[in-house]
This record gives sequence, C-alpha cells and structure tokens, in this order.
Amino acid sequence: MLLPCFDYYRPADLSEALALLGQMGDQAKPLAGGTDLLVNLKLKKLAPKALLDLSGLEELKGIRGENGQVSLGALNTASRLAAGATEVPGLLSLGAGALGSPQVRNRATLGGNLVTARPAADICLPLLALGAKAVLAGPDGEREVALDGYFKGPGYTVKEPDEILTRVVLDTPRPGVGGGYQKLGLRQAMEIALVNVAAYLELEDDGKTVALARVALGAVAPTPMLSPGASQALTGKTAEESCFTQAAEAAAADAKPIDDHRGSAAYRRDMVRTLTLRALRQALSLAQGSKEAQA
Ligand SMILES: Cc1cc2nc3c(=O)[nH]c(=O)nc-3n(C[C@H](O)[C@H](O)[C@H](O)COP(=O)(O)OP(=O)(O)OC[C@H]3O[C@@H](n4cnc5c(N)ncnc54)[C@H](O)[C@@H]3O)c2cc1C
Repeated sequence: MLLPCFDYYRPADLSEALALLGQMGDQAKPLAGGTDLLVNLKLKKLAPKALLDLSGLEELKGIRGENGQVSLGALNTASRLAAGATEVPGLLSLGAGALGSPQVRNRATLGGNLVTARPAADICLPLLALGAKAVLAGPDGEREVALDGYFKGPGYTVKEPDEILTRVVLDTPRPGVGGGYQKLGLRQAMEIALVNVAAYLELEDDGKTVALARVALGAVAPTPMLSPGASQALTGKTAEESCFTQAAEAAAADAKPIDDHRGSAAYRRDMVRTLTLRALRQALSLAQGSKEAQA
C-alpha cells in the first residue's frame, strides 16, 4: 500500500509549527511517531494536504522534574517511558511497556497516544489514573487540561485542530505511592486491549490507610474512564483484600461495556472486576515496597 501525496514540513520550533497549523487549519496533521497516522493515510481513512513533522521541536522532548512535578514531553516514545527512569511513575512505565511490540514502542509517542485517544490506549490509562494534565499550545498560548476532562469520544478530545499537545504534567512519584496495570487481549502481544485497568494508590504514613485512589478503565466506554465508585470504596479504608473486592465490584458497576465482535459486554464487565482486583494488589505491593525503601 502506498502513501498518498502530501506536502511535508519540518518546523524548527513550536512557534513555527503553530503558525503553519494556524495557516493550514485541519488541512494539516502533526506527525509524531507515525504509527497511527501513516497507517490511516495508507488505508485512505485520512487525506491531509500536509504533514507537519514534529521531530525538530525541542519543546516537545525530554523528561523534567521541577517543583514537585514531572513534565513529560509529547515526543517521548513508549520505549523511553517503559525504560523505568526514576522520574517516570512506575505505573506509566507498565502501561507503555504493554503497548504493541518493541518496534511500535520505539516509534509510538506519548502525544500520539493521547491525541489518538483510543478507549483502550495503553499510555492514556495510566496517565488518567495518575491524575495527569495535558498541556496544549495554540495561537493564544498554553492551556492545561486535566485528563479527566480531556477525552470526548473515540479519537476525539478537547484539543482543537490548531493546537499541539506539548507535554503532560503530573506529581512527582513519592514514597507510599504505587500503581498496578493489567491488560487483557485476545493475544499476548501486538494487541489492543479487550479490557485494561490502571490502579493508583496513595497510602497514609501508617502504610496501610488509603489516602487517595484512582482506578482507570479501558475498552469499556467510548473513552478511557475513571471509576468513581472504586475511588469511593478505597479512600480512607485499610488497603486490604475485602476493600479491594468492593472496589472491583464498584468498577464493574461503573463500566459501560457493549457487545462487539471481540467480546460480550458481560465478559468485559467480569474482566473489569478481575483485573481491578489484580491491579490493586499490584499497586499495594509497590506502594508498601516504596514505603519500606524510604524507612
Ligand atoms: C501494529 C500496531 C500496534 C499498536 N498497538 C497499540 C497498543 O497495544 N496500545 C496502544 O495504545 N496503541 C497501539 N497502537 C496505536 C499507536 O501506536 C499509538 O496510539 C501511538 O501512541 C501513536 O503515537 P504516534 O507517535 O505514532 O502518533 P502519530 O501516528 O504520529 O499521530 C497520531 C495522531 O496524533 C496526532 N498527533 C501526534 N502527536 C501530536 C502532538 N504532539 N500534538 C498534536 N497532535 C499530535 C497526529 O496528527 C495524528 O492525528 C498500535 C499501532 C500499530 C500500528
């Protein structure tokens, strides 16, 4: 399959990229790793007049920690996020490491995953559970959007066509915090999840009471979603099996799966229950491990 014809631009910095986008509007598409965009061009699902290669934009690169926050540039690849750098939350590394195959992970970027916004996206889910914010740059400057309000539908977000996602920001991982990630597919690798779950737990200083919890669910709604019921079942409680079982029930009740050719709604709901329990156990073990490392 051949790519269609398009004009190719490689802006040198963010302001040049935004100016080009401003001139061309939705005739132009930013190009990051290309694992989604180039496939869609070949399949003739998209036919933009121009591609704006983002690879020259320093503003979208790197991982920086400052003032208790981590800033992750949109051009970070899944491989880099999965590599386990200390600034990258472990939960995000787990999700990024579950994406596609090594070849896909070497190209696929954080920004591309967030803009593509698939309901089962492996980078979106951990970031949602971590309480991350997307930073969008546009003609009028930058705006920060909490991921909780960022996704609007499959492939559809609050990002405007003339905006570029430059980075995400989130709190620096600290002791007493742990994350768990579980992905179920019809195959072991190169698979978009049938159901995936990211769980984030923050423990009080006693090492067992849950100070804050978020459970993000994938492939069970038109967008990645948080389970309010799971957070409620966990917050303020002792992190133990009975409370995790209640949270898993609440997550299954919050999920909004539908029947499709890959699995029934009932099966997906069952799997939300199972994977939430496993993700919470994994998160607790990492949270308690990080507390011990601090002591
Ligand atoms: C074989 C294969 C397997 C895959 N497996 C998985 C999987 O297991 N899990 C998963 O989550 N995904 C998977 N994907 C989907 C894809 O790899 C990811 O969504 C990836 O993160 C997209 O990133 P990218 O850099 O390649 O985006 P691109 O393809 O470059 O861009 C995707 C879209 O985002 C826009 N865009 C990209 N970056 C920006 C930015 N900074 N600002 C504004 N717009 C931007 C582009 O214009 C385009 O519309 C798979 C894809 C393939 C081909």
